[in-house]
Amino acid sequence: MVLIWIGIAMGILIGIILLRKIFKSGKYERFSINAGCRRCGYPTNGMSCPRCGESQRKTR
Ligand SMILES: [Zn+2]
Repeated sequence: MVLIWIGIAMGILIGIILLRKIFKSGKYERFSINAGCRRCGYPTNGMSCPRCGESQRKTR
C-alpha cells in the first residue's frame, strides 16, 4: 500500500515539473520572438528573420 502512495506522489511531482517546463518554455519562446532572431539577434519584432528565416524554420 505504501508503494501506491509513493507512486501517486511521484506522478503528481512529475506532472508539476512538466507543467512548469511547458510554461517556462512558452514564456521564453514569446520573449525570443519579441526580442528578435534567436540565431543572429537581428531585431525582427515578431516577423520572420530576413537573414536566416529559412534555416530557423528547419530547426523548428
Ligand atoms: Zn536571423
